[in-house]
Amino acid sequence: MKRYSAFAIAREAARYHTGWERAWRAPAPQKKYDVIIIGAGGHGLATAYHLGKNFGIKNVAILEKGWLGGGNTGRNTTIIRSNYLQDPSAALYEKARSLYETMSQDLNYNVMFSPRGVIMLAQTHHEVRGYQRTAHANARQGAATEFIGPERVKELVPIINIDGPRYPVLGGLWQARGGTARHDAVAWGYARACSDMGMDVIQQCEVTAIRREGGKVVGVDTSKGAIDCDKLGIVVAGHSGHVAEMAGFRLPIESVALQALVSEPIKPCMDVVVMANTVHGYMSQSDKGEMVIGGGTDGYNNYTQRGAFHHIEETVRALVETFPMISRLKMLRQWGGIVDVTGDRSPILSKTPVDGVFINCGWGTGGFKAIPGSGWAMAELIAKGHGPLTDAFGLERFREGRFIDESVAAGVAH
Ligand SMILES: Cc1cc2nc3c(=O)[nH]c(=O)nc-3n(C[C@H](O)[C@H](O)[C@H](O)COP(=O)(O)OP(=O)(O)OC[C@H]3O[C@@H](n4cnc5c(N)ncnc54)[C@H](O)[C@@H]3O)c2cc1C
Repeated sequence: MKRYSAFAIAREAARYHTGWERAWRAPAPQKKYDVIIIGAGGHGLATAYHLGKNFGIKNVAILEKGWLGGGNTGRNTTIIRSNYLQDPSAALYEKARSLYETMSQDLNYNVMFSPRGVIMLAQTHHEVRGYQRTAHANARQGAATEFIGPERVKELVPIINIDGPRYPVLGGLWQARGGTARHDAVAWGYARACSDMGMDVIQQCEVTAIRREGGKVVGVDTSKGAIDCDKLGIVVAGHSGHVAEMAGFRLPIESVALQALVSEPIKPCMDVVVMANTVHGYMSQSDKGEMVIGGGTDGYNNYTQRGAFHHIEETVRALVETFPMISRLKMLRQWGGIVDVTGDRSPILSKTPVDGVFINCGWGTGGFKAIPGSGWAMAELIAKGHGPLTDAFGLERFREGRFIDESVAAGVAH
C-alpha cells in the first residue's frame, strides 16, 4: 500500500490524480480463514485490525452484508468521551479515547479526530451530585475530567441559555480531551489497514447460518457461499440477537431505533460538544457548519433504521429551551440506526456457549467512542481467550448479577 502524505498529494496533483490506488481490495471469499468477523462496522474492523497488529493473526475475513460502515458506524453523531462512572467502563473507554488521539497516524488515514471538549450539563441537583461523583471516580481512574460551574459553561458555550425556565444550567462535567471524529473515515481507515495486512474485507456478503460440529463453530453460510473458520466473532450491533440465534444462543439485548438530524450549515458558533441529558438532547457543530443533533431511543423495540417522528420533535423542543437560537434553523435531514441495548447499559465482549464463537455487542447508543478500545480488547479475547479489558464484560454477568450499571451515570448513553 502506498502511504498517504503531503508529498503524495503534491505528486498526484501534478499528474492529475491518476496514480491513487484503491484503498482496499474487493476479494472473493476463500474456502477457509483462521478467524471470520461478521460485521464491517467500526468494532468488527477494529477487532480484525488488532488481531493482525497485536497478535499477528492475519488470515482473517470480515463479512459485511451491506457496505462497510453502513450500519451504526456511519450513522452516529460521533461523540467521543470516557467519563464513565464504573471502573471497567472507564478503563475500556479511556483506552479507546487515547487510541483516537493517534489513530490518524497509526492508520495513516485522516480520521479528523477533534478533541474539542465535551460538556455534560447538570440541570438538576441530582445531576450535580451525580457528575461530581463521576468526576471524583474519573480522577481515580485516570480519565481527565472536572466538574465546572455555570459561569464556566457559559464561557465555553456562549450560545447557551443558562437560565432556562424549567432546567437552568447548574454546572457540567467537562472532559477537555473528549470530542468527535469523522465516522466513515474510522471505518475506511481500518478497512484499508486490514486489507493492507492481507485480510479480506468482503462486502455484500450476508451471513445466513452458523455451522457447528460437536458444540464448536466450523464455518458460516453466506450469500456468497459456505466459508469455513476456526474462530468466529459476531460484531453486528442491532442485529446481534438475530445472528446469535443462528449460533443457537440467546442474548439479553433489545434492539431499538435511535435517530439524529442536522441543521442547515451556519457560521461557527459552538466549538465544544454539549450533552443535555435531563432535557434529553445533545449537539455539536460539524466542520461543514451543520448543527448535529441527537436525542433518545424509540420507546419500543424495532428493526427499522428510521425511528418515530415524535422523537425528533421532542429532541428539538428540548434543545430549544437550552439553545434558543436553534429555533431559527431549518433542519436538513434526519436518519436512524438500530442500536443494541443491554439492561445495565454496558457492552458485552464475551465468549459464548458455542466453542470458538465470540460476541461483541450491547454498545447501545454509545459505541462509536469505544471502537479502537473495543477492537483492541476483542482481539485479545479472540486470540487469548480472556483479557483485562474484557473480563468484566462477559455474558455470565447477567446470570451472576454482576452488572456494570452505567445507566445511572449515563442517563443518555452517547
Ligand atoms: C443516530 C445514532 C447516534 C449515535 N451517536 C453516537 C455518539 O455520538 N457517540 C457514540 O459513541 N456512539 C453513538 N452511537 C452508537 C454507535 O453508532 C454504535 O454503538 C457503533 O457504531 C456500533 O458499531 P458496530 O461496529 O458495533 O455496529 P455497526 O456499525 O452497526 O456494524 C455492524 C455491521 O454488521 C452488519 N451485519 C449485520 N448482520 C449481518 C449479517 N447477517 N451478515 C453480515 N453482516 C451483517 C451490518 O450491516 C453492519 O454494517 C449512535 C448511534 C446512532 C444510531
